[in-house]
Amino acid sequence: MTAPFTVAIDGPAAAGKGTISKAVAAHFGLAHLDTGLLYRAVGVRMLLGEDPTKAAQTLVAQDLESPDLRSADVAQAASKVAVIPDVRAALLDFQRAFARRAGGAVLDGRDIGTVICPQAEAKLFVTASPEVRAQRRLAELRDRGFETEFDTVLADVKARDDRDTNRADAPLRPADDAVTIDTSSLDIDAAVAAAIAVVAARRAL
Ligand code: C5P
Repeated sequence: MTAPFTVAIDGPAAAGKGTISKAVAAHFGLAHLDTGLLYRAVGVRMLLGEDPTKAAQTLVAQDLESPDLRSADVAQAASKVAVIPDVRAALLDFQRAFARRAGGAVLDGRDIGTVICPQAEAKLFVTASPEVRAQRRLAELRDRGFETEFDTVLADVKARDDRDTNRADAPLRPADDAVTIDTSSLDIDAAVAAAIAVVAARRAL
């Protein structure tokens, strides 16, 4: 059986973590967990009137299939439930078990390299300017059929950055041993190639 090998990919909203994580997982044959979906699923249940901590404690696989998970309202709700320490605690064991599964895993989020899996074999911090991220998120939302404007998306991105960076519990920040990739002026192929090179170097150790 292959030894666990964890790739932790953190960074702010819409920096390219999702695309990079999927590509890294496919390239190295690793499982992938988008941990933002867990917070989004709790956010959906809060918007339906549930207590967020109860929702996090009773999350089921079906919650991760809600068609609303990618909406802008749910993104904001996710970053609100994510400041609650009991919500984060309820989601911890599942993420840690996934990270150490046999065969290896890529997890992307905000606190993977700092809190969930500080012993990860490879750590990346993927970032880009707020304007570039807002432009990408706008295109993605429009593709999914959500009608919105650049200024609205930029304000949402900045509000989430602010909440994610300044919360007391597990704030968004690069781990000391993370390699930062700024994707502001990289296309997808170049960003993916940079990430694969970092992970390949760690795999070779
Ligand atoms: O990555 P995504 O944009 O889907 O995450 C939604 C929200 O969930 C983030 O803005 C953040 O507040 C929260 N989150 C978190 N820790 C993670 C992943 C996501 O706090 N590991």
